[in-house]
Amino acid sequence: MNNSSANLIELFSSIQGEGVFVGRRQVFLRFPGCNLDCNYCDTKHDPPEFCTIELTPGERDFRQFRNPVSLATIFDLLTSWKKSAPYLHHSLSITGGEPLLHSGLLSEWLPVLRSVFPIFLETNGILSEQLVKIIDNVDMVSMDIKLPSTSGHSDLWGKHLEFLKIAATKQCYVKVVVGAKTGADEIGEASRLIASIDGGIPLIIQPVTNQINDQGIGAHLLLLHQTATVFLKDVRVIPQTHTMLNIL
Ligand code: SF4
Repeated sequence: MNNSSANLIELFSSIQGEGVFVGRRQVFLRFPGCNLDCNYCDTKHDPPEFCTIELTPGERDFRQFRNPVSLATIFDLLTSWKKSAPYLHHSLSITGGEPLLHSGLLSEWLPVLRSVFPIFLETNGILSEQLVKIIDNVDMVSMDIKLPSTSGHSDLWGKHLEFLKIAATKQCYVKVVVGAKTGADEIGEASRLIASIDGGIPLIIQPVTNQINDQGIGAHLLLLHQTATVFLKDVRVIPQTHTMLNIL
């Protein structure tokens, strides 16, 4: 397999359910594989034999394409979507897994795909060397800061800092997934890290989906929000909304 084709998980049109672009219609291109194993992860990682591709935006007329799928196939489909409905999609979400595991391929694909839609990168925010390779062809970055209490990863602060320095050269925001056990000290550390680069970068506090109805979670989210606003100007609490709407 060369870079003209790639093992992919899925391509479909939907509504962004997280972060500052919540509610925007996007095309989602999902890559396999991840370099982390977060406790709350609900994403398929393994490259499947077939990639699931929606043929018409919103119709859910999925077809199975044998992997690897060519860039030409993806480009032709996106071009036809753009032609038939120029204002339907805000951007193309490059997501995973961790899409930066495919940075070599993305450095060739993104200039082509960006000629159709602006590029929105969704990443776990630690592979800074890989980000450097593609940042010129990325328009927006959603990066995570992994908190020990929810992700189970405790040693990523330095990597997140290096990553954010590069991501901040584009429109970007940071997302932290929180739960009932997330301490104000963790939110404080994440907020200080962001503020050391730019106190205007938005921070999205996203409660773990299976805890949003727990008693006391509302008061806890208020505390975490208040803690972050000591350091940052734009802090928002936004749960995953696509699960509420029962859409992909
Ligand atoms: S970084 Fe994302 S895809 Fe990877 S394990 Fe964590 S939640 Fe799952």
